[in-house]
Amino acid sequence: PSIPRQQQVPILPPDVTRETFTTAISELQNLLGNGNVEVNDKPLVDGWYMEHPNTHDAFHLVDQEDLVSSAIVYPGSTEEVSIILKWANQHLIPIYPISMGRNLGYGGAAPRLRGSVVVDLGRRMNKVLNIDGDAATCLVEPGVSYFKLYEEVQKTGLPLWIDTPDLSGGSVLGNCIDRGVIMGADCGWGKGYTPYGDHWANHCGMEVVLPNGEVLRTGMGALPGRDDADNPTWQAFQHAYGPSVDGIFSQSNFGIVTKMGMWLMPATEHQSYCISFPKDDDFEQIVEIIRPLALQRILGNIPQLRNVIQEIATTAKPRSHWFKEKGVMPRELIREIAKTLPCGDCAWVFYGTVYGPEETRNRQLEIIKKEFAKIPGSVFKLPQDLPDDHYIHSRVKINSGTPELKELDWLNWLPNAGHTFFAPITPTKGKDANIVYDIVTRLHHKWGFDCFPTWCVAGREMHFIANVIYDRGDPDAKRRVNGMMHEMIQTCAKEGYGEYRTHLLYQDVVAKTYGYGNQVLMRFNEMLKDTIDPNGILAPGRNGIWPKRLRGRGFEL
Ligand code: ADP
Repeated sequence: PSIPRQQQVPILPPDVTRETFTTAISELQNLLGNGNVEVNDKPLVDGWYMEHPNTHDAFHLVDQEDLVSSAIVYPGSTEEVSIILKWANQHLIPIYPISMGRNLGYGGAAPRLRGSVVVDLGRRMNKVLNIDGDAATCLVEPGVSYFKLYEEVQKTGLPLWIDTPDLSGGSVLGNCIDRGVIMGADCGWGKGYTPYGDHWANHCGMEVVLPNGEVLRTGMGALPGRDDADNPTWQAFQHAYGPSVDGIFSQSNFGIVTKMGMWLMPATEHQSYCISFPKDDDFEQIVEIIRPLALQRILGNIPQLRNVIQEIATTAKPRSHWFKEKGVMPRELIREIAKTLPCGDCAWVFYGTVYGPEETRNRQLEIIKKEFAKIPGSVFKLPQDLPDDHYIHSRVKINSGTPELKELDWLNWLPNAGHTFFAPITPTKGKDANIVYDIVTRLHHKWGFDCFPTWCVAGREMHFIANVIYDRGDPDAKRRVNGMMHEMIQTCAKEGYGEYRTHLLYQDVVAKTYGYGNQVLMRFNEMLKDTIDPNGILAPGRNGIWPKRLRGRGFEL
């Protein structure tokens, strides 16, 4: 429950008096320069994707004033990040690092704990530090967006691709550290779609500032190069020697990542396509056909299976253009509208891309067509078969590593739209996928929301992404989103399906669903947290991990 924020008076973090806060902030201003520390005391502005605020969650699911920071600090180097951590320990002020804060739909730039000081790394630490054309690798700072990395790679003139998520304005490092495997950070989506689509799997080497301010390098980076240069294989070999610790710094609160290596993909020829399927009930069979094709890598990228309602949403016309009433858009109407669109009368559309020389692509497409043709009424189309403004043309770009913002068309669906994601993982098996799909569609009906299901297939598993769109100005809609999210999380968990990522508000409940062995995983994470960050200053509560000092005091949701 929040006490309204009075203008000019920032919200304080727990256990910090106004006097301590004021002294600490002016000390930080002395350390980093006045202009690099801002107190959050002005009216909150939601902005939009490219001009998002770093003061709060722009896609608020509770009151706009609930998830807010007390101040924002802009470090300009790893050394300054260390200084901030030491400062936070000294004053027991919780801090919350963001790269660019664009993971709209999962909390944006907001801290999990109200009143934390946001460390906005991206504003000043935004350089591509290295592009190694021979090894096809790069080293980036937190403020490098997919657009920027793309431009820098283009400038080299080398035949290299980056891998971008559906929206390219977010941070390469931030997306990766939040394990935007499939759709993901960066306006909620968080994976890419080329063969390098699993960003976490394609990162190589990190520099991390630990909560005590010490700087650690992971992988080969731990071994200094000649004359203390960066290790020459830092971006080439992920595992190095000893325990692989990279994982504990992703989706956690154990360190602040200041540099990250990523692999780039050698450019190749490519061909995108889509296949539509006529019946809702085709779903199980589609999934059964996808699995072996994905496992054999005949499906070259991370393809998407989208419900036909998304063909309507990506026309960028608002829902009211099609349907004036409140309540869920009827299935029959969706089908009727689809008949008037390029996809035609269908229930599902599959988007994929094959890569490599022409003979390879043609052979793959032959197999793909033959397998999906087993579903009566399926229709295969190439980009040239579809109008210029059709969604497939944005898929062609994204699937070949070219930045895009087309996916933002979603936000036209409702006035003042915000969105969040329900994102459980299922095996790539028709039966499992159907159980989750049934739960999600049933609960969308119950709580009164249109259901936008997309399945992103990695091979053995699929990320199911339900994009929940609501009117930010409607408190009842927000109440219903919250009710629905909780019910979907619990109902799916009972069947054994869990989320890969979630909004700040649900991180505690999702963490609890991973409760095997009397919550041993959380107890282990807490053990790490209390050792690595004994003062509990770094991102308290992120992913459900609370430090001892704040645990069990009513901050958990
Ligand atoms: P993006 O701009 O790609 O959406 P964000 O900056 O919003 O990414 O990052 C997503 C989440 O990942 C943040 O809310 C934060 O919890 C975490 N995060 C981002 N960058 C870092 C970092 N450099 N070190 C540690 N955690 C980070």
